[in-house]
Amino acid sequence: MGVRWSCSALAGAVPEAQMDLETTRRSAERFAITRGHGRYFDEARLRLRTEEEGEASRFEVSVSPPSSSSTLTTMDFRDTAEVAEFRSEAAAWLAENAPSFELDETPDAPGADVEKQLEVGRAWMAKKAEAGWACLHWPETYGGRGLERFHSILFAAEESRYRVPVGFFHIGQNFAAPTLMEHASEEAKARHLPRLLSGEELWCQLFSEPGAGSDLAGIRTRAVRDGDVWTINGQKIWTTYAHLADYAILVTRHDPSLPKHKGLTYFYLDMKSEGVEARPIRQIAGTSSFNEVFLTNARIPDGQRLGEVGAGWQVALTTLMNERAGAGSAQNPPSVVQALRLATEIQLEHGPAIADASVRDKLASWYVRSRGLELIHQRTMTALAQGRTPGPESSIRKLVAASQQQDIANFGIDLQELGGSLRDPGDLGLGGLMQQCLLGAPGARIAGGTDEILRNIIAERVLGLPGDIRVDRDRPFDEVPGA
Ligand SMILES: Cc1cc2nc3c(=O)[nH]c(=O)nc-3n(C[C@H](O)[C@H](O)[C@H](O)COP(=O)(O)OP(=O)(O)OC[C@H]3O[C@@H](n4cnc5c(N)ncnc54)[C@H](O)[C@@H]3O)c2cc1C
Repeated sequence: MGVRWSCSALAGAVPEAQMDLETTRRSAERFAITRGHGRYFDEARLRLRTEEEGEASRFEVSVSPPSSSSTLTTMDFRDTAEVAEFRSEAAAWLAENAPSFELDETPDAPGADVEKQLEVGRAWMAKKAEAGWACLHWPETYGGRGLERFHSILFAAEESRYRVPVGFFHIGQNFAAPTLMEHASEEAKARHLPRLLSGEELWCQLFSEPGAGSDLAGIRTRAVRDGDVWTINGQKIWTTYAHLADYAILVTRHDPSLPKHKGLTYFYLDMKSEGVEARPIRQIAGTSSFNEVFLTNARIPDGQRLGEVGAGWQVALTTLMNERAGAGSAQNPPSVVQALRLATEIQLEHGPAIADASVRDKLASWYVRSRGLELIHQRTMTALAQGRTPGPESSIRKLVAASQQQDIANFGIDLQELGGSLRDPGDLGLGGLMQQCLLGAPGARIAGGTDEILRNIIAERVLGLPGDIRVDRDRPFDEVPGA
């Protein structure tokens, strides 16, 4: 069966980019190899054509097995009438309302006033909630519209065109809320979900510990029950926005004599309660978005337990599945279009950087890969639109996207030569975006699953390779060396 990819917009967006046939051929070959069709590439047909679709021109890459009877499969990614109507309604509402909530700095910018940004973020969430545009796939009882998750993703894509501060609420709305919906009491849901939706409550995720990150089931924070109250002792780390949060979702170990996955119990915790101390960690970019959190005789009522005692791992999986489903869905900067803009602005010795064939080669290569990522995203969207659970494609998308962002940021810094080492946005191409992205990129390759863990998922779930070795799985946790 033949496979065809159509890549539009790059040439149309910047006519001077004029990718030559050889550059395109090499990019297409690499792309074909990454999609498992490399062995057919010699027989591949590559067409370049210009179409009068408004301003867009496009090139097409067709890769087919060498059978003369092969037929090309074309996928249609145009919006259906219903989706197009929804998208334009969302876009119109955003155009009218979002600009007055836009920030002129990101939380990672040097000297950013994060508390002020949070205030704007809460106001933006409240505005969306009031107008019925928040958490569209949540049930109406909690303030949503009862639509599909698909609609929320479409809305988020439109919203990402504006610099509105939505990141603060990501963990609460996308990880904590679905966990509450599945495991909390009706009373807790009625109390917290509408406040999560409107931005009134900010939630954080107390999972990782100094000795347990990728292997979450290895956590050591202890929960000891005394009647209707649990006492919690331990340390968490890398907790995003813990210093600003109102509540947290928390995984603890209630019984170390059980195997590691079985001795866990899950709670939610009031971050303002006694015995909870968040200490911000200063990051490479100079800001502090995450924290160490010390829990010293912190007390949690049993009513704040989510799931049965000992079912903490199953409840954590609800959270992790929602985290993974969203992983890589956001197109974090820098994008290939931003790199292209920089290459057009920067003057090298012999003219603009974009005139250099090796620069164009890189851009073409990233562009083709970005289109591949978009198509993978379309698969996720199709699965969601059809009511299916997305497969492991979000792991592929996150793995490729995070390292590409790092490569583009490195390239952007190199292009600016000595200017690349400056941090004052006013003096820099794209307002210092590449500098910020370079410092944030290593974190993006760790948060939500490191590269190696994502490769393990792809190996096991996509390629069907044997599972990772897990020798401690069935042993009592307190007998595991180092636990
Ligand atoms: C920006 C950012 C925000 C974060 N926010 C939060 C948060 O809000 N709440 C929270 O709980 N945590 C948060 N984290 C923590 C994050 O979940 C962990 O850093 C991540 O799970 C990795 O765990 P670790 O740091 O303990 O590394 P480890 O798990 O110790 O890994 C160390 C190295 O070993 C590799 N490795 C580990 N296991 C395997 C394996 N089985 N096979 C092959 N290689 C392996 C890893 O890939 C990595 O290179 C955040 C992290 C970042 C960077």
